[in-house]
Amino acid sequence: MKTAVYPGSFDPVTLGHLDIIERSARIVDELVVGVLNNSSKNPLFSVEERVNMLKEVTSHLPNVRVESFGGLLVDFAARCHADVVVRGLRAITDFEYELQISQTNRIMRPGLDTIFLTTDLEYAYLSSSIVREVAQYGGDISAFVPEAIAERVLGKFVGENSFGGPEHEQD
Ligand code: ADP
Repeated sequence: MKTAVYPGSFDPVTLGHLDIIERSARIVDELVVGVLNNSSKNPLFSVEERVNMLKEVTSHLPNVRVESFGGLLVDFAARCHADVVVRGLRAITDFEYELQISQTNRIMRPGLDTIFLTTDLEYAYLSSSIVREVAQYGGDISAFVPEAIAERVLGKFVGENSFGGPEHEQD
């Protein structure tokens, strides 16, 4: 049985993440999506919220489960009995960092391999931070995140700007 972990912040999960999850779930027997509980990052969504959103949007995938983790990825992978890490590569700018991390992980746990899936061109520009930025100003994020997630992201910014609220619609 081949188990892989797909780690990330997923703050929030985007259609780009979901594409990587669906594609890697076809390659391995079991995929564990690992939601990083990183207190220093000051995320928009709590780790519980991020886990729940991921569970919701992956509920159609029987071999995918979602867990939170803190600390080292190599330790989380060991706890999951996974010897593969999945990461998505969007552009050359992702590459240097990803290479460094995967090599570091292999030093710490020699049996651990990282596989990189190239992003679908449709989502190559997409990141969670872009989604947060557009949502902050009341923009339409329906092309970026699963339908069930869009409302929750926009809900985080209600009352925070003068662009998307009912007051603006009356102008
Ligand atoms: P991090 O917090 O480590 O930057 P993210 O939560 O943003 O991680 O992303 C997790 C993983 O998903 C990373 O491997 C990242 O490269 C990948 N990823 C993010 N956005 C996309 C996308 N639009 N298409 C494909 N992969 C993506």
